[in-house]
Amino acid sequence: MSALQVSVDYDAITANVRTLRSRTDADVMAVVKADAYGHGLVEAARAARAGGAAWLGVAQPHEALALRAAGDTGRIFTWLYGTEVPARALIAADVDLSVSSADVLGEMVAVARDLTVAPRVHLCIDTGLGREGVTLHDLPDLLGVAQAAQDQGLVRIVGMWSHLAWADQPGHPTIDVQAENFRAAIVLAEERDIDLEVRHLANSACTLTRADLHFDLVRPGIAVYGLPPVEDPERQNFGLRPAMAVRSSVVLVKDVPAGQGVSYGHEYVTPYRTTLGLVSAGYADGVFRSGGNRAEVQIRGRRYRIAGRVCMDQFVVDLGPATEVCEGDTVTLIGPDGPTARDWATATDTIDYEIVCRFGGLRDKESA
Ligand SMILES: *Cc1c(COP(=O)(O)O)cnc(C)c1O
Repeated sequence: MSALQVSVDYDAITANVRTLRSRTDADVMAVVKADAYGHGLVEAARAARAGGAAWLGVAQPHEALALRAAGDTGRIFTWLYGTEVPARALIAADVDLSVSSADVLGEMVAVARDLTVAPRVHLCIDTGLGREGVTLHDLPDLLGVAQAAQDQGLVRIVGMWSHLAWADQPGHPTIDVQAENFRAAIVLAEERDIDLEVRHLANSACTLTRADLHFDLVRPGIAVYGLPPVEDPERQNFGLRPAMAVRSSVVLVKDVPAGQGVSYGHEYVTPYRTTLGLVSAGYADGVFRSGGNRAEVQIRGRRYRIAGRVCMDQFVVDLGPATEVCEGDTVTLIGPDGPTARDWATATDTIDYEIVCRFGGLRDKESA
């Protein structure tokens, strides 16, 4: 058995997609990039489909091809299309592709010339994120090239989309600015009689807080895995269920006197005579070293802060002078019976996205 057990509740993913669907009239694209945020691409995708995800979204083209290879026949959208990517394979696999520039579209069209199917393309607009997408300034050129290719039957322009910079801060002024830019881009396409099947802008935060910006399709990621992207005004976590749990176990319990320095550098010193518990997982297993003296774990229903530095394969907790904890007890780092990914993110100065991607990476190693 490995040092950390990372488990995923796929029923929670199905339930979360249902919950998201109940909050919108738009279709749901479950974002399963990065191995489904560490939850396992194929299994998470299956669970999301079971919850009613009409679309799956991935960043990297190989992920789209992996979903097809696993038998998924629904709509799949991938957005990090670049010149190095096997366009032919993606088009043949009937994957919807994002296009951010006339150059990339040109290469796609060149490939499409000797294929029998025309690729389905979503034009990506940089409405203010400053990442992927064509600027509004360059959009008319791209529209011209795209329309010409469509007239020759070489592409089908089915979508227009963009991504928000500050959706996790509802009320941030850039959200409305980006939405206005997006609407302006849509108007430019409509003026050319380009018939858009799907217009999409919303990530999880926008899906849960801005119903007016759902357009035809929403693209939630983190919420699919049960992690609320913003504070819920009703403090109900929007009815989402966290899907990932991370556990380890106590391998040693021992009594020590007051004043005992704990772990490298003695950054924790026992304030009284107490009992230490040694947990067999460290930064080599994915436990964030920055969680030393900050992050908490749960054992037998009680929270304990990590005492001192996280080592390569182990860390220590101070169990207190009169503990019932025994060797072999389960230690919950993240789970319904313990801290959340958000708790770990707060303790280690990052975001819960990185926490689940990191721990999820361990799942892979185990199953490989
Ligand atoms: C990651 C990503 C999403 C999903 O974002 P969440 O904040 O996880 O909901 C949606 N769209 C794009 C383009 C993304 O990169």
